[in-house]
Amino acid sequence: MNLDRFSQGLPDQQEAEPVAECAGCCTEIYPGEDVYLVNGDILHADWECLYRYIDPELKTVEEVLGVEA
Ligand SMILES: [Zn+2]
Repeated sequence: MNLDRFSQGLPDQQEAEPVAECAGCCTEIYPGEDVYLVNGDILHADWECLYRYIDPELKTVEEVLGVEA
C-alpha cells in the first residue's frame, strides 16, 4: 500500500492568492482562471455567474410590451 500521495499533500491551489472577486457569485477568482469582463466587472467565465450578475427578470412578452395576454 502506497501512502506517498498523502504525505505529499494536495497541489497548492489553496495557497494561491485570489486576484479578484466574481461580481456574479461573489467568490474568489484565482490566477489562471478564465473570466468575463462585463461593464468593467470581472466574472468567472461561467454562464451561472453571468446570469447571476445580470439577474434578468423573467416575464411574459405581453407583460413586457404592456399588452393583454
Ligand atoms: Zn463566479
